[in-house]
Amino acid sequence: MSVYVFFSLIISSTINAQTFTAKNVELYDNFREVFTQEIPVEVSGLPINIDGIFGLESVEITLHHNRTSDLKIQLQAPDGTTSWVTNRNGGLIGKNYIATKFSQFGKDGIINTAKNPFTGNFIPDGQFAYFNNNQNPNGTWKVLIEDLKPEEKGFLDEVQITFGKNPAIIKKRNICSFATPEFCLNNGKNIELLPDLVIVPNFTKTQFQEFSNDDEHFHSQLKISVAIANIGLGPLEVFPDTLGMKINKPAFDKSDKRFPLFQKIYSLKDKNFSSVNKKSGTIYYEKLPGHEHYHVDDWIEMRLVKFEKNKKIIVAKGAKVSYCLFTNGMLYEKDKNSIIDNKQYGNDLKNYGLGDYPSCELMKQGIAVGGYDYYGLMYEGQFLQLPKYMKNGDYILEIEIDPDHKYYESNRKNNLFSMPIKIEKQ
Ligand SMILES: [Zn+2]
Repeated sequence: MSVYVFFSLIISSTINAQTFTAKNVELYDNFREVFTQEIPVEVSGLPINIDGIFGLESVEITLHHNRTSDLKIQLQAPDGTTSWVTNRNGGLIGKNYIATKFSQFGKDGIINTAKNPFTGNFIPDGQFAYFNNNQNPNGTWKVLIEDLKPEEKGFLDEVQITFGKNPAIIKKRNICSFATPEFCLNNGKNIELLPDLVIVPNFTKTQFQEFSNDDEHFHSQLKISVAIANIGLGPLEVFPDTLGMKINKPAFDKSDKRFPLFQKIYSLKDKNFSSVNKKSGTIYYEKLPGHEHYHVDDWIEMRLVKFEKNKKIIVAKGAKVSYCLFTNGMLYEKDKNSIIDNKQYGNDLKNYGLGDYPSCELMKQGIAVGGYDYYGLMYEGQFLQLPKYMKNGDYILEIEIDPDHKYYESNRKNNLFSMPIKIEKQ
């Protein structure tokens, strides 16, 4: 009998979801210096390997804060893998996260399309699938919280991290990866797997905000969310030309460094990958709060235009905006945000999921096939400055990806997104 009890205990502990908790933590406000508050969550007693069968399922948060868009919340695994949970969501006045569950296939949609207090089950701003990478989950997980704006502080009531048999994974139809080329598009010819970059329209169409010329914080700004997806045959991948630099010793000074970039272009022939590196743009360290990582220069350009007698007149043109390139979401066949040019995108894309770009590292950035890189309207720098004496009225917002044509892709003709927009507060 005792043997039977012993086994049933082991079996149930490997089958049932297991939850680990941290509670009642006062959150620091921003004191002009950006400070990352680390909240440890001790995990023990789990199998020593998390993957697509058993792994991280969800994170649930209840916290009180009078302006949640001040907060960037990340999760960090014992092996150092870090992913965004929610980044500066809630707009100008949104308060609190109450019983907010984050999971890869959250039924209530992507967190950045939702409203406070975010009660429900949402898809996080980053990709939890990257945690389930065969690491040992036993050890200290950390919830990393940054408050990026002064005046409001908060309180974390509870955070729960749950592991189980519905782990976050990227659901591929076939397992095309660099380790399994036999499952990738392969017709014997030498095929160059170029990326194809497009704007995901729904984020921009539903997330923009105009500020009046007497707004004390955002004087005449048009804040806009932009997500850039890759619908090509291969990943977009870049890495810096650090030739002659000693990367680790001594730790190089991050400030004011700008490196030339190579774009790595993959080819596939007879089930073998090869690649060439081509000179492309540049990358630098972006110090703005909430970023503090490397940005690819001049990644998009935003413009406001109008047409007069069939002539296009540029009314406002922003400084080009730089991005850190990583895959923080995947186009998903059941998500209305994944409609581009009236076509639903998802895992029927050839080579879907090819390329791993989980975070903003200097040494490798990119966007996987079928992935997108989202920048929300509350992120620093993510706006178009409207000119003085601008007239209210109907305009067209244009966003162009890679306006200087520095990167290689299969189709440049779909790099310009435009939509009508009404300017009414100037
Ligand atoms: Zn950034």
